[in-house]
Amino acid sequence: MFLRIDRLQVEMPLPKAPDPTAAAAVQELMGGRFGEMTTLNTYMFQSFNFRQRGALRPYYALIANIATEELGHIELVAAAVNGLMNGAEGKGDITQGDAALKGFVGGGGSIKNVVGPGPVGGIMAADSLGAPWRGDFIFNSGNLILDLLHNFFLENAARTAKLRVYQLTDNPAARRMLGYLFTRGGVHAHAYALALEKLTGVDMKKMLPIPNLAPEQIPESRPYLAEGWHRRLYRFSLDDYDEIRQIWTGDSLDGSGPLEVRDGPPEGGPQYELDANTEAFIPDYHPQEILEMARKLYQKAGGTL
Ligand code: MN
Ligand code: MN
Repeated sequence: MFLRIDRLQVEMPLPKAPDPTAAAAVQELMGGRFGEMTTLNTYMFQSFNFRQRGALRPYYALIANIATEELGHIELVAAAVNGLMNGAEGKGDITQGDAALKGFVGGGGSIKNVVGPGPVGGIMAADSLGAPWRGDFIFNSGNLILDLLHNFFLENAARTAKLRVYQLTDNPAARRMLGYLFTRGGVHAHAYALALEKLTGVDMKKMLPIPNLAPEQIPESRPYLAEGWHRRLYRFSLDDYDEIRQIWTGDSLDGSGPLEVRDGPPEGGPQYELDANTEAFIPDYHPQEILEMARKLYQKAGGTL
């Protein structure tokens, strides 16, 4: 089961201005082939289907625990897209023939973020072109070595995808989040390398980093490296998954210090408080009417509001 904490996994200030183009690029990190939904669901389903959890406890704990961190990553990507689209809708009056949303097309944003199944400016379970995330992006063979090898590949492929999104936008808020996710993806690639090393004796670390770009070369990753995020694996549980310590041991790849397991989640940062989505109520938004309707329904049901 899961325990939910109403905070973002890391402090991530609300973007200062709307940027639909950046939002469209970041959308790839949610539902793209190598986005956070793929890492989340791959590890989640591998943990659901895991056999011999007792005998293979450290490997089960590692996969289950990293899956939980990925839940926080999809939440972060969702916040970024919502934040980057916040205020992007125009103030035009549809009854006067205005095209209040025309700025999205010229602005390079994904039209699906506006006309798709979600609220205007919301995140979708889709890639940057609006193509839905697919369940068959998940890989789970049941062979632990093959699954760990796939996870190692997946983290490095996701790292590559993040670098490409980084090059698609220079938006500071989007890049700040990329700097964080890039650092954490490096941790996961390292962790799966260590798991394979302990299981087979092969030194996967020699292949890292893939692509051959150290996190310190990304300016937005440097603050996280300075704080040691690349050396930490968080234990996202009150009492469980302590066995990850048997895998996450040794030194960091950059030689800056020992790897450490932190008990409990990071402190994180506040969720965004965004304005009402007025375009969902076109042609006019009347919040008082909605509140009045809710009040009447509550009263009918015997409650008060
Ligand atoms: Mn991730
Ligand atoms: Mn990851």
